[in-house]
Amino acid sequence: MLQRFAEYAINSSRGRFYPEAPPKFRSDFQRDRDRIIHSSAFRRLEYKTQVFINHEGDLFRTRLTHSLEVAQVGRSIANALNLNVDLVEAICLAHDLGHTPFGHSGQDVLNQCMMQYGEHFEHNMQSLRIVTKLEERYAEFDGLNLTFETLEGILKHCSLDNAKRLGELGERFLNKRQPSLEAQLANLADELAYNFHDLDDGLRANLLSLEQLEEVQIIREQLLVITKKYPQLKGRRLHKELVRHLINVSIYELIAGSEYNLQRYDIKVVDDVYQAPPIIRYHDEHFILQNELKKFLLKNLYKHYSVMQLRYKAENVIRALFSAFMSDERLLPDQFQTRIADDGHARVVADYISGMTDRYAFRQYNRLFAVEGV
Ligand code: MG
Repeated sequence: MLQRFAEYAINSSRGRFYPEAPPKFRSDFQRDRDRIIHSSAFRRLEYKTQVFINHEGDLFRTRLTHSLEVAQVGRSIANALNLNVDLVEAICLAHDLGHTPFGHSGQDVLNQCMMQYGEHFEHNMQSLRIVTKLEERYAEFDGLNLTFETLEGILKHCSLDNAKRLGELGERFLNKRQPSLEAQLANLADELAYNFHDLDDGLRANLLSLEQLEEVQIIREQLLVITKKYPQLKGRRLHKELVRHLINVSIYELIAGSEYNLQRYDIKVVDDVYQAPPIIRYHDEHFILQNELKKFLLKNLYKHYSVMQLRYKAENVIRALFSAFMSDERLLPDQFQTRIADDGHARVVADYISGMTDRYAFRQYNRLFAVEGV
């Protein structure tokens, strides 16, 4: 017997692009989750960066551990709101599959490279491209043939031009409708998870200090709660308690804000969700606190000179790889060369580069540009 969720949750799928018999012992969304976990793109996330380059330290988050943490946060909140936990988990695990090496700077520079050829690179679209086309593991179709609902969750935003090309999947952007609550939740769970684990990693890397963090209200409040209970607590353990408290309080706030919105907009069934404003949200007062933290991280962590230096290096590597592979298609591995006729040279190069892990990109760069032993 499959679990039933709330009436406003997704309880069944509209289906898959290539029709398949329903799974015997799993739900459709559990099948999606399992397909994602077994994909090559998912395994590559282990060696792709969030903020810190992968080989800088073994304890920093990578996109793989980030995706697992997003799924954990997503599942907890889905349980509390009686949403489809399996769908949330599938979307969370897949949400970063299309990311380039070296985090956001990789995406930005690859997009700039593509614009010279009148094209764009955007990691959401790339995640969709991976699960609908680039994964080659099934006899009968390209991609993973995921359900409509999982695909809708993966595509959290897209341009109107792309939306027009995407058919049913793009419709909600053209009609300005909200996606399912499960998709909304995966999006917020992503943000919640990265704010606090970037903070955690920033403290570990000594790019941030606990004293400096006290300027942020949500942190000040939680430090007060902790030191009241454990006045002696210092150093690493205080830092860990703080991150734990922050994640906890944010999860509670997100549940409370969303429950309030469910009532306020009288959300009873799935159709109500599409017409209403975003439901999975913090209360306005708490949203301001989360925003203050984001601004703090932007200024003090993401723009820290030591992160900027890594970013500079990463951008140069991607730019150099892109122009090398555009200058002569014979530099591309055979399986990519053969796709140029169908997909175009620039798109194939973007597929190849965005699929690289951090270390693979460095290795390719060295292979093409480093002169050793001279
Ligand atoms: Mg993410």
